[in-house]
Amino acid sequence: MLIESPRNEYDVLVVGGGMVGASFALDLARRSANSSISICVIEAVALGDQTNQPSFDARSTALAWSSRAIYEAMGVWKQLAAVVTPIEEIQVSDHGHFGVTRLHHSEQGVEALGYVVENRELGTVLNAALTASPVIELLAPATIQSATPRTEGMDVEIELADQRKKINAKLVVLADGGRSPLCAQLGIDHSRENYEQSALITNIGVEIDHGNVAYERFTESGPLAVLPLQEFEGQARCSLVWTVKSGNEQSLVDCSEEEFIQQLESLYGNRLGFILKVGQRFSYPLSLTEAKEQIRPGLVLLGNVAHTLHPVAGQGLNLALRDSACLSETIANAAEAGRSPGSMAVLQSYLDQQTPDQHQTMLFTDQMTKLFSSAQLSKVITRKMGLLSLDLVPTLRQEFARRAMGT
Ligand SMILES: Cc1cc2nc3c(=O)[nH]c(=O)nc-3n(C[C@H](O)[C@H](O)[C@H](O)COP(=O)(O)OP(=O)(O)OC[C@H]3O[C@@H](n4cnc5c(N)ncnc54)[C@H](O)[C@@H]3O)c2cc1C
Repeated sequence: MLIESPRNEYDVLVVGGGMVGASFALDLARRSANSSISICVIEAVALGDQTNQPSFDARSTALAWSSRAIYEAMGVWKQLAAVVTPIEEIQVSDHGHFGVTRLHHSEQGVEALGYVVENRELGTVLNAALTASPVIELLAPATIQSATPRTEGMDVEIELADQRKKINAKLVVLADGGRSPLCAQLGIDHSRENYEQSALITNIGVEIDHGNVAYERFTESGPLAVLPLQEFEGQARCSLVWTVKSGNEQSLVDCSEEEFIQQLESLYGNRLGFILKVGQRFSYPLSLTEAKEQIRPGLVLLGNVAHTLHPVAGQGLNLALRDSACLSETIANAAEAGRSPGSMAVLQSYLDQQTPDQHQTMLFTDQMTKLFSSAQLSKVITRKMGLLSLDLVPTLRQEFARRAMGT
């Protein structure tokens, strides 16, 4: 429910009601029905403000099969199913080289390898569920100004309308994204590797229906993904994520539609016929970041503030949702056993469970980014052999499918 003024104390305070914070709060609320944990979400941007909301923006997100299961358990899949586009096949190819590797959902015995959702649609569904929840108290717009550790939990100072208020929480779940001032204030550092690349995103109208195929094409500047979207006003549509070398993104944002289409078609070809329309273009700088500490007594980092990945393999949100599901389950179990959600033993148990998944996913994404962004002959050969092996070696193929599906 949307509230105007918060209580003085909560068991769990979620900072940031973006994709990850909102998903976590909903998951915790349904798991803790028996232990009645009090939950508050503080979100800086007003609900429905589509101009300033950094999470539910113009991008689209590929949700893995595993994320569908998480949203199903949360009770929001029915609403999401109406707005997502299933990915039935993934085609991987290399610009300038022959051959395509195909991965089909029927091989994996699932209805779809994943689903594409427009971030704004995901935001509408999650926000509706947050406001309808009788358990979650949502304060938006309100901003966290500071957090101070206490003997139990943390005191946080929030700013809402023109007043400031102090709240005590046994656990603060920091889900305020990749540019968290709170993290800096608490002295939590991040390791950062700049990829010297930016992702240019837009929606494109295409001549031929995509047939629920997602295309991943590797080019010298970096990977290019074309994801299937629901049609708009009778026009077949796809979401484009085009990785370019840093410094080249602005000219692609600013150039004419004709020039943009020409450059895109020279890399992507005409698999979907002519590109007929290009939506508004945005760019995002890309880096691999990881918080050097993810937990402290009364504090846990979730989502982009904990780790930010290259979007090449569409793993960032999917990994964060697996983290979120594990954290909410750990907290709910602890609460039933009468333990505080902010206790270090509880948080350590969560982190021990998720660390292998986090490291493997980061490594997989990082290796793919580097291998598939290079024109170096040795890497081109490795890449060709890799794609060939994906076709020929069943175990490798299975591993690739497992990663794509997040299972
Ligand atoms: C181009 C691109 C494509 C991507 N594609 C995919 C994909 O296909 N699949 C995938 O799994 N992942 C993908 N990702 C990754 C995915 O977008 C991120 O994992 C996800 O956005 C992380 O969400 P978050 O909630 O942690 O952070 P954010 O989305 O940044 O949300 C943070 C929230 O916190 C709020 N906030 C900030 N500061 C405060 C404060 N002080 N007080 C209160 N609230 C605050 C903000 O308003 C916002 O709502 C992609 C990323 C990029 C850049």
